[in-house]
Amino acid sequence: MGFTLLKIAVAVAAGFVFLKVGMAVLGSFARPVPPPPDPGELRRVRLTYECAICSTTVRMTMANDEVPEPPRHCMDDMVLVTSPDDI
Ligand SMILES: [Zn+2]
Repeated sequence: MGFTLLKIAVAVAAGFVFLKVGMAVLGSFARPVPPPPDPGELRRVRLTYECAICSTTVRMTMANDEVPEPPRHCMDDMVLVTSPDDI
């Protein structure tokens, strides 16, 4: 009976250790890539827009989305000249 209790204790302890190690591994994986911010939160982007009419070019560095609405210039939407894949 005592032997069975010991086995259970060892199993529980081993399970706890595996859980801890698993958490540590997951934590180290999660560290370099921060979780995406909630919708509405600003995120860093590197998008370049060009005005199709006067060729004014702007660089967007912060947006509320990875693919935000283009800014307007000369009363028209600016053209995204950076591929969203390059972000
Ligand atoms: Zn313009």
